[in-house]
Amino acid sequence: MARSLVTETLESLNPFKGLIRQAEREGEPRPASRHDWQTDEIVDLLQAPLFELLDEARAVNRQYHADGQVQLASLLSIKTGACPEDCKYCPQSAHYSKKTGLERESLLDVDDVLSKAKLAKEAGASRFCMGAAWRQVKDGPDFDKVLAMVRGVRALEMEACVTLGMVTKDQADRLADAGLTAYNHNLDTSPEFYGDIITTRTYEDRLKTIANVREAGVEVCSGGIIGMGETIEDRARLLQELATLDPHPESVPINALVPVPGTPLESQAKVEPLELVRMVATARILMPTSFVRLSAGREALNREAQILCFLAGANSIFYGDKLLTTANNDAADDRALIEAAGLRIKPACAS
Ligand code: SF4
Repeated sequence: MARSLVTETLESLNPFKGLIRQAEREGEPRPASRHDWQTDEIVDLLQAPLFELLDEARAVNRQYHADGQVQLASLLSIKTGACPEDCKYCPQSAHYSKKTGLERESLLDVDDVLSKAKLAKEAGASRFCMGAAWRQVKDGPDFDKVLAMVRGVRALEMEACVTLGMVTKDQADRLADAGLTAYNHNLDTSPEFYGDIITTRTYEDRLKTIANVREAGVEVCSGGIIGMGETIEDRARLLQELATLDPHPESVPINALVPVPGTPLESQAKVEPLELVRMVATARILMPTSFVRLSAGREALNREAQILCFLAGANSIFYGDKLLTTANNDAADDRALIEAAGLRIKPACAS
């Protein structure tokens, strides 16, 4: 493709020449995904002039996701509160329950969960995610119930995802046998900042669970949260940890902290929408085939900021009135937003 005078002029004026060159790739064969991203390369992307970062993310998105589909994933808390972990952002932690006042709820019945999955499908969701506030999966009647939920969701021809804390390889195998599509286990932040946020389990524990899930043949859903007091290097290191996994996680949730009263992070400043856009765009460039999922914190974005996130490469949202225990956007508004952006809802399928 001939290089335009405008491109050459822009290149001569700015230090992010590589981004512009990459944006010219549209229509060319897809390059192989990289798994050797360096921290400084990712910091440069996160700090690039916004339009150049968006140009690059758009180019990658057009190469890998030309269908313009957005996946709607519904998320249900199947067991709420009283979690022994101390994640500082989480109202479900037993460490903060006196201050948050969040009531503990036992594991829901299978039929109850499946009726909610059916409603989510009727409303347009193609993926149903179930979260239990556990430190780890324990074999026994509760895990058997979760396996029945997974089988039931798959029978509805929806993708099934669970987030249950740490899992062993054997438990991951049992989830795979039940037909589980994906297991969510977020890295949350960089390995360096992690100890400021969680002390009850290690980064290595998290990576081990992800490895167990991958080994069982289940897709990996793993991302993180910005706005917890981390530096730009921490954001880059989080993305680097994810982008150096081989293969990349099939799903990468990008969350902005929702500071919940009573949690240790209740006073954190609100995340600027453009910071979220930058995280989404950088994740899209680093992990071109993944679903980049716009997750917690979306409720605080106006329509235009959400459309900017789609433009930056987000191709999935959590859908429904609640995200575990925090509020989420109105479902009808979400459908209207997707239509206004000229995107299409990914249909449900059995695969
Ligand atoms: S493990 Fe999950 S439910 Fe438990 S405190 Fe951490 S984020 Fe909350």
